[in-house]
This record gives sequence, structure tokens and C-alpha cells, in this order.
Amino acid sequence: MARINDNYLKLKAGYLFPEIARRVNAFAQANPEAKIIRLGIGDVTEPLPQACRDAMVQAIEDMGDRGSFKGYGPEQGYEWLREKIAQQDFQSRGCEIDASEIFISDGSKCDCGNILDIFGDDNSIAVTDPVYPVYVDTNVMAGHTGEVNDKGEYGGLVYLPISADNGFTAEIPNYKVDLIYLCFPNNPTGATATKEHLQAWVNYARTHGSIILFDAAYEAFIQDPSLPHSIFEIEGARDCAIEFRSFSKNAGFTGTRCAFTVVPKSLKGQTKDGQTVELWGLWNRRQSTKFNGVSYIVQRGAEAVYSPEGRSQTQALISFYMENARIIREQLTAAGIQVYGGENAPYVWVKTPNGLSSWDFFDKLLQTCNVVGTPGSGFGAAGEGYFRISAFNSRANVEEAMKRITEKFKV
Ligand code: PLP
Repeated sequence: MARINDNYLKLKAGYLFPEIARRVNAFAQANPEAKIIRLGIGDVTEPLPQACRDAMVQAIEDMGDRGSFKGYGPEQGYEWLREKIAQQDFQSRGCEIDASEIFISDGSKCDCGNILDIFGDDNSIAVTDPVYPVYVDTNVMAGHTGEVNDKGEYGGLVYLPISADNGFTAEIPNYKVDLIYLCFPNNPTGATATKEHLQAWVNYARTHGSIILFDAAYEAFIQDPSLPHSIFEIEGARDCAIEFRSFSKNAGFTGTRCAFTVVPKSLKGQTKDGQTVELWGLWNRRQSTKFNGVSYIVQRGAEAVYSPEGRSQTQALISFYMENARIIREQLTAAGIQVYGGENAPYVWVKTPNGLSSWDFFDKLLQTCNVVGTPGSGFGAAGEGYFRISAFNSRANVEEAMKRITEKFKV
């Protein structure tokens, strides 16, 4: 019989969102009259910007004409999209990023997992706790960890706890790790990192020859002008960081699929026998071999995000979700519940009231308010006692959910 990848069997059986779905379905069946409001999964709810739709309609027309028809595109993405990204997302912020260092993809979730293809199996790997589960699970699948313990921690990974005590930014270790995953603005805590904090990580990485895998999927939600949007705003980051970006949350592309990864040409790693190799060449090879690009139509849609109309329409989308986040923060605070995040991110991180566990608060909120959120413990052991509420929903649903919660919980 063919051998399987045994590492898959190490993955925790009850993944967070299926367990949430199971509990919500059981409740809905037992209470068919309940009007359940879902503020759990971080998926967008509002339609695609008009500029993106118009560009995609035009691109479909291009595909219908022999002269403008497109077959396979470049595996790295079309030059016209990569140039706009380089100029508007990076060079305009003083980041020295060239279009050739940008690789268009069908999602930053995929890229966060795929990037492991170009790294060896014997790196030490650090993640924050709580964390976006994809970083952990993809390392488990790749055989980079041991077994999971009853707290949900995998042997072999370095967990850096984040909590209210450290402002949800991890303390920088005083020992060497090879790969470090950082996510700012953070999913799930909604925390952000200052330039000083990122500079400290970059200094650490350069001292130890480490690589920072920087996930900036939520950068567009930053409201505070002093906060960095990219790791490449930090001096020295070109020598130690890869950045993941996505059109999913800023332009509502979760179902349309387009993202990109930035791999600077100056970034280097080491072979087993100590030779230095440029990572750009490895990622370029990986993408050219295993990926055939994002569709022309979708890339034209993504390009429209950078047009004047696209910029103002995506800004309006972000403002809409951030107003939801403000309502959530204010209403929960008024109900005597301690909240974090939600000021530069679409997630509000809630301290569960009365010392309830994350899942007990989940059940209570579902049963008494018919509102669904995400238990913090699902993102890691240190997320216990916290709860994530997403601002991705209609205004009416957010207002109704907050009304129900404040009525039940008001102190
Ligand atoms: N990174 C983080 C931190 C996320 O929360 C998400 C999605 O929720 C992603 C990446 C995935 O983005 P994409 O839709 O581009 O795959």
C-alpha cells in the first residue's frame, strides 16, 4: 500500500471552525426560531468595489477577442500589476522594493504554507501564541514538529506568548530561532507593531541570520499614521524578511483570490554545507514549477485597486468595517467587558467576563444572545480566556449583536 504523509495524523482532530460550526448547527436545530448572528470567521461580507468589477468585465471581453486573448501568463504575475504594487504599496512609503521582487499568487494563506518548500527541515521555528493557525499546521504537515500535547502545543516549535501583559507583542527571545512568523495587524488579537518593535525584530534576525515571515494581510486597516504597513519600512529588513500581502480583506477578494509575496533579492539562506544562496531564485523556481499564475481577469481586478476610483472605493470598504469595529469596541466596553484591538484591525479581542473559559463564553454568547464569535483558545493555549469578534458583517447585524450583548451582560 502507498505510504501517506504521517505528519497529517499529528494535526489536531477538531479544527476550530468545524467545531464552531458543529455547536452552532446543534443550537440552530434545537432553536429554529433563533436569529443567529455570525461574528466568527474572518470573511468579508460587502460586495467587490465597482472599479474591480468593471476591470474584470473588461478583462472578460479581452478574453473574447483573438487580438487581446491571454493564455498562460507569467508565473510571477503580470508586470503591470507588479509595477503598481511596487510603486503604490512600497516605493511610496520609502521601501526599496522592485516589481521583480513581487510574486502574485492566489492567496496569502497558500503562500504562507508554500514558502516552507524553499526552507530546510531542520530550522527552529517561532510562532506567537495565540497565532493564525495556518503557520503552525503547515509546519506540522511538513514534518517540522513533534506531537501535539494536551494544551495544543506541538513539540519542536517555539511559542512566544502574547497577552495583555506584553501589549500582545512577543518578547524577543534571547536565543536563536531560524524562522519567525509575525503578523501585524494581528489576527486574532487585532494588535499592531510600532516601528521600534519591528526594528528590534529586524536587528535580532540580522544578528542571528534568521528570516522573518511577515504577514501583512490586514495592513490596509491601519488608521494610526505612525504605524508601519510593511516590514520593509524598517531599516535592514531587505536582508531578513519575506512579506505576505493579500487583496482578500482590503478589496473583498476572499472569494475572487489574489495576493502577493515579496521576496527581496538581497535575502539569503544557507545550504547544508554552509554555502550562501539567494532565496529569491528558489522562490522563483518554486513558483515557476508548481504554479501557473493567477487568472488574467482577476489580476486586472486587482490592478483596479490602484486606480483613483479603486483606491477610494477600497478605502470606503475599510472605513465601513472599521466603523463596525468601533461600534463593537464601544458597546462591549459599555457592557463592562474588557476589549483590545479593533483600532487598526478588523478584529476585537475580548477578555472573557467573569473568568469564563473561551469555549464557555462561546456557549453562553450563543445561547443567551444567539451571537457567534471565535474562542481565543482555538488560536493557541495563551488565547484561553479570550474571544475574537470580527468586524466583517453588515452594520445591521453588528448593531443588533451588540444590542443583545449589552442587554445581557450590562454591569
Ligand atoms: N493571513 C492572515 C493573518 C489571515 O487572517 C488570512 C485570512 O483570514 C490570510 C492570511 C489568508 O488570506 P488569503 O485570503 O489571501 O489566503
